[in-house]
Amino acid sequence: MTLQYILFDLDNTLYSPRYGLELNVGRRIAEFLAAYLGVSVEEALDQRRAQIQGYSTTLEWLMAEKGYADIEAYFKAIHPAGEADTLSPDPGLRDFLKSLPLPLGILTNSPKEHADRILAKLGIGDLFTHIFDIRWNGFRGKPHAQAFRRALNALGTIPERTLFIDDTPRCLVGYCALGGPGLLLDEENAYPAYPHPRIRDLRELTGFLP
Ligand SMILES: [Mg+2]
Repeated sequence: MTLQYILFDLDNTLYSPRYGLELNVGRRIAEFLAAYLGVSVEEALDQRRAQIQGYSTTLEWLMAEKGYADIEAYFKAIHPAGEADTLSPDPGLRDFLKSLPLPLGILTNSPKEHADRILAKLGIGDLFTHIFDIRWNGFRGKPHAQAFRRALNALGTIPERTLFIDDTPRCLVGYCALGGPGLLLDEENAYPAYPHPRIRDLRELTGFLP
């Protein structure tokens, strides 16, 4: 089927993991968890590892299993204002995205303020027709089927006509289950045994376009 749209993940997809930006988000999440649960960081991460299956994000798990309710306090703690300061404009990325022959969207499990900061730093925020964030998805994000379906409905397209690119295998598994073509962006060669299409550089996605 002819592709109509390209849908991107945001973190570690539109910028490289080498900036450590998402690692820092993960560190703040771990510290937040430890403080909220009143345990060590190690114990907090153990609890999450044991229970996160079936949840899209740490926040979704916290709300469902740990009685957590203050969504805005959580986002404020893990996404401080200067979180994207290590990024700088990426004119090469901008030119590449502009050269793509299809409209572009973003589906992220992060909140909009985080996406806006990153896109502003990279200088590419105007290139996407839609940015679907975790609030828009009612805090049930990828890989829940509903998160993909809502985004594609809003774009007026279907999985079979939308190329989705993400750096997280479990997100792609969710998408492929709906029948859509997905590419794993694996810049650091972390998933050599991944059985479906995998690229090492975002620019390789052109090989999957008509
Ligand atoms: Mg990502």
